[in-house]
Amino acid sequence: MKEFPPKLATQIVSAGRDKKFTQGVINPPVVRASTVVFDTLDEMQFAIKNKTNGTLFYGRRGTSTHFAFQQAISELEGGVGTALYPSGAAAISAALLSFLKSGDHLLMVDSAYEPTRALCDNLLAGFGISTSYYDPMIGAGISELIQPNTKVIFLESPGSITMEVQDVPNICQIAQQHGIITLLDNTWASPINCRPFDMGVDVSIQAATKYIVGHSDVMLGTATANEKHWPKLREQSYLMGQTTSPDDVYLAARGLRTLGVRMAQHEKNALEVALWIQARAEVDHIRHPMFDTCPGHEFFKRDFSGANGLFSFVLKQGTPQALKAFVEGMQHFKMGFSWGGFESLILSVPGIDKIRTATAWDKSKPLLRLHVGLEDPQDLIADLDRAFARYHQAE
Ligand SMILES: *Cc1c(COP(=O)(O)O)cnc(C)c1O
Repeated sequence: MKEFPPKLATQIVSAGRDKKFTQGVINPPVVRASTVVFDTLDEMQFAIKNKTNGTLFYGRRGTSTHFAFQQAISELEGGVGTALYPSGAAAISAALLSFLKSGDHLLMVDSAYEPTRALCDNLLAGFGISTSYYDPMIGAGISELIQPNTKVIFLESPGSITMEVQDVPNICQIAQQHGIITLLDNTWASPINCRPFDMGVDVSIQAATKYIVGHSDVMLGTATANEKHWPKLREQSYLMGQTTSPDDVYLAARGLRTLGVRMAQHEKNALEVALWIQARAEVDHIRHPMFDTCPGHEFFKRDFSGANGLFSFVLKQGTPQALKAFVEGMQHFKMGFSWGGFESLILSVPGIDKIRTATAWDKSKPLLRLHVGLEDPQDLIADLDRAFARYHQAE
C-alpha cells in the first residue's frame, strides 16, 4: 500500500501507533517488565543484537509501551531516536553528561530554566566542567565566546520566565563550524511548534511533564537526537540507568494525541488574556513571543508555527505587598510551579537578577508569569481584573 506523507495534525494522532507496539488496539498497552525470558540461545542472541531497535531485551531498555512513544516523539521532533527520562530535569542532566567530560567547557544560555543553571554551577562544576553564560540575544556573537575546549552550546528558546527567543539556526551554524554539539530545551514549543533539527540542533529536549502529558499528573522527560549523536545519547543514558515507568509513558502517549487541539486553544486563550493585560495602565510590557515587545519576536515569526499558554508580563512598579495581594486570592489562576496542564497558573518571580549573570535585569519592575489554561478566557480576565483591584488596594 502506498503511503502518503501526513500533515502535522495527522502525525500527532498516528505517530508511533505501529501494530507491533499496539497489538491491534488504539493506545499501546502498558507492558511492565524487568526480566525478558528466551527459549533458546539464538533468541537471546537476536535480542542482544536488536536491543536498540524495538526488540524486547531487558526492562531497562523499555517495552513496547516505551518504543511506541519514543517513535512518536522522534517523528514529531524530526530526529532519529528518543531517550526517555523520569523528568525533564533528568533529560537535561543526562544529555549534558552524555556529551561533556572533565576539562570541557559549556556555553549555557543566560535565560535557562533555573535548575539547569544550578546543575551547571554545582554538579558539572564539581566534575571540572566549566560553564560560561551567554546573552540569549547574542546570535552570531556566540563565536567570540567559543574556547578551544567548548564542547556543547545549550539553548533554550524562548527562555524560562523572561521569554527571549533565540536565533537558533545562526548559533547552530556557528557551532557546526567549530564541531560543537548543540542541545536545545524545546519544551515551550513542544514537539509540534518548531522544527529543531531543520534549524541545525543536534539534540532536542522536552520536559514532557508540560504540554505532552498535558494534565499535570506525570513527570517525564525526552531527548531526541539526530543520526550522528543518537548512538552516544542512547548508550550514555543507558549507562546512567535512565529508565521510566510504562504507566507514566502510557499517560504521556495518551496526552500526546490531543496536543494539537490543546496547543491551539491555549494559544487563542493566552492571546486574548495577553491583549487585555497589554492595555492595562499598570503594565510596562508583555513578554510573549507573539508580541513585538518580546526580545526575539522576529525569530519567533520566522521559526515557530504556533504559540501556547505560557507568557510573562512586566509591571511598571509594585511593592511586595501589592504583588502578594495580586497573586493571593485568585479564583482560577492557581499559584504553583510548572505549566502545560489544562489549568491556569500564576507565578510572581522575584530575584530574576540573581539568576542572570550575562545580562542585566531591572529588578525595580516586577514580573508575573501566567500559564493560560483551557478555561473561558473571560473568566480568566475577570480573575485578573480583581487581582489588579487588590494590587491597588494594597499599594
Ligand atoms: C519544567 C521544565 C523543565 C524540567 O522539567 P521537569 O519534568 O519538571 O523536571 C525543563 N525545562 C523547562 C523549560 C521547563 O519548563
